[in-house]
Amino acid sequence: MKREPVIGLEIHLQLKTKTKLFCGCSSDYIGAIPNTNVCPVCLAVPGTLPILNDHAVELAVKTGLGLHCSICDNTRFHRKHYFYADLPKAYQITQYEHPIAVKGYVDIFAGGKEKRVRVHHLHLEEDAGKLVHPTSDGRLTGASYSLVDYNRGGMPLSEIVSEPDMNSAEEAIAYITQIRQLARYLDVSDGEMESGSLRVDVNVSLTRPDGSLGTRVEIKNINSLTSIERALEYEIARQNKVLDEGGHLAQETRLWDDVAGVTRSMRSKEGDRDYRYYVEMDLAPISAGPEYVRKIRESLPEMPWDKRERFISEYSLSPEESLHLTEQRETADYFEACVSEGAPPAKCANWMRMEVQRMLHDYGIGINNFPVPSAELGKLIIKVEKRELSNTQAKDVLAVMAEKKTSLEDAVRICGVSGGKITGTALEEAVMKIFDSEPEAVKTIREGNDKKGAKVKFLQGLVMRETRGSADPAEVASLVNSMLH
Ligand SMILES: [Zn+2]
Repeated sequence: MKREPVIGLEIHLQLKTKTKLFCGCSSDYIGAIPNTNVCPVCLAVPGTLPILNDHAVELAVKTGLGLHCSICDNTRFHRKHYFYADLPKAYQITQYEHPIAVKGYVDIFAGGKEKRVRVHHLHLEEDAGKLVHPTSDGRLTGASYSLVDYNRGGMPLSEIVSEPDMNSAEEAIAYITQIRQLARYLDVSDGEMESGSLRVDVNVSLTRPDGSLGTRVEIKNINSLTSIERALEYEIARQNKVLDEGGHLAQETRLWDDVAGVTRSMRSKEGDRDYRYYVEMDLAPISAGPEYVRKIRESLPEMPWDKRERFISEYSLSPEESLHLTEQRETADYFEACVSEGAPPAKCANWMRMEVQRMLHDYGIGINNFPVPSAELGKLIIKVEKRELSNTQAKDVLAVMAEKKTSLEDAVRICGVSGGKITGTALEEAVMKIFDSEPEAVKTIREGNDKKGAKVKFLQGLVMRETRGSADPAEVASLVNSMLH
């Protein structure tokens, strides 16, 4: 019987607060000199007491609501004990029995179908410091000493724990991508794996012949979506191989080695008993009452999945187009502003997907920094609709608007296109170009040897071809004549 992989994920989101979770230290620690973004509270100097950052609670509740969770109105913190140098108190303040949000779900789309992944709970906790090992690969193995940087210690995290509802690497990636999109829509976290503001621990096991869950292995140290996919595929294959050969799997934590492309055993997994949780008596319980939750619920923006559905029904877009446009809230806002100028939605979607996307890629920027305002793109698309500009001309105009950061009107003038015709400076440039490429003909005419006017006609024809037929023939004729003499 085939064993099915069963995957559960723990996602840590670093919350976008100004200060740490229990002290006034800045949350802007990246790039700071080690151990300069610290204070007696986050360094655990005896006698100091934590004070809860209420903005972090608000962001956690926001995230919980986005995940369709119930918000618990009586929630509190516990101490989780473990001895490691990155934790100055030798315990982490976290939520254990009473997390702030429970029983939610996320709908994902993977393998051509939709699936609901249940969220067990979301809790708040503080981050640990960072150990720096002076080895070539940055790993502990072989280091004669290690350094510790507490700048990150005490940063607010919300940990989202899923149920083991995913059965493939593809589903796991879809789930992480959906959580990241939600975090960005809600503006609760940057959700960047590169900088560590989104971190994922993966739990994976294989089903037994009777359908029950097999031994669970946790994988840590995975820093990108690609690595998560590779780590999962490797680990599923490894577990299958061990079982095929009649071996037994250990319940353990394994580290992903991205260079070697393998997982390695790190330690046997601690049970909850090893952490000796007990209530953090220095912090009062949090009371997130119905009134507080209602206010936050009312402040929520439209959720990405709701926007996706609305774009399909309101603008008659295809699911793919809608998915692309709602991937980022800013892209969706740009699109809607463009449409509100009166441009047809299907055309706006197409321009954004093709031209705008290509330019953003070329410039290496996001939609937020795109130099052409949405209203101007809307007006440009309307010009194409009214046949005042051809598609090719409009693309040139858009390129000028982006490059020179000019208005639509100025760009139209610079390109020498108006009413669908090439005119003015642009037409003169086209004539000069033809003159330069045909010096013999120009010489013949200027010396008065083109008695029948055949050479003049020839030059006019070349100009018409150069302007792809978008110049007025009469204007070309008179311009060629006046420029010749
Ligand atoms: Zn501090």
